[in-house]
Amino acid sequence: FIIVEDLKKSYSAGESTNEVLKGISLTLEKGQVGAILGPSGSGKSTLMNIIGGVDRADSGRVQIDGLELTELNDDKLTDYRRNEVGFIFQFYNLVPNLTVGENIEVVSNIAKNPLDVDTVLKAVGLEMKKRSFPRELSGGEQQRVAIARAIVKNPKLLLCDEPTGALDYETSRSVLALLQKVNRDFGTTILMITHNTAIGDMAHMVYKLRSGEIAETILHEEILAAERIEW
Ligand code: ATP
Ligand code: MG
Repeated sequence: FIIVEDLKKSYSAGESTNEVLKGISLTLEKGQVGAILGPSGSGKSTLMNIIGGVDRADSGRVQIDGLELTELNDDKLTDYRRNEVGFIFQFYNLVPNLTVGENIEVVSNIAKNPLDVDTVLKAVGLEMKKRSFPRELSGGEQQRVAIARAIVKNPKLLLCDEPTGALDYETSRSVLALLQKVNRDFGTTILMITHNTAIGDMAHMVYKLRSGEIAETILHEEILAAERIEW
């Protein structure tokens, strides 16, 4: 479902070149949850942005559900990003002067195959907050709204860049549990960047990134079998 092959990306500033991705290859099957771990600056967000069609690689290949992203022109890549991918970030980026329901509606109104707004609100357990404003919600609740907004367009792929980065331990656990529920109930393939070691319970695949390379790929069975994982 996700096939990444020998992906390379550099940024240059004047004389110097920063090789951020040095030939990344990974695969993830449809309906699975993949987790990307790695130190700050190792290229996690850069990789995720290329998979989400936000950015382009210098070379290599990204195929999502049969679609070759590297061969798409800019308009087609934008269509892919808008219609097929849901994004969740550390900071929820909700529109402050719109209610919870309206934050989700603006996305569902322009989506190609949207889910029902009340269905997704129910899925994230926030039916009763539909008319509240973001400032009236806790951080965990705001992240649940962001999850509802990402899944209302019924994306093939959900990309999460440190979705629990701003949350405390307990709230992080409940947000991860919710993402697992989305994965199970809607069959959405999820790729997540996280520092949260609780991901071991739900990830089918863990990719460890070290300075632009995949240092290790760990399968779910190995996570379960290991007494402890060196994160
Ligand atoms: P973090 O855990 O801190 O979010 P990360 O693994 O997500 O780190 P990236 O954001 O992918 O790291 O950045 C990897 C490297 O690429 C860094 O050295 C960063 O400075 C550089 N970089 C990222 N985006 C750009 C850009 N638009 N222009 C120039 N350099 C960039
Ligand atoms: Mg990052």
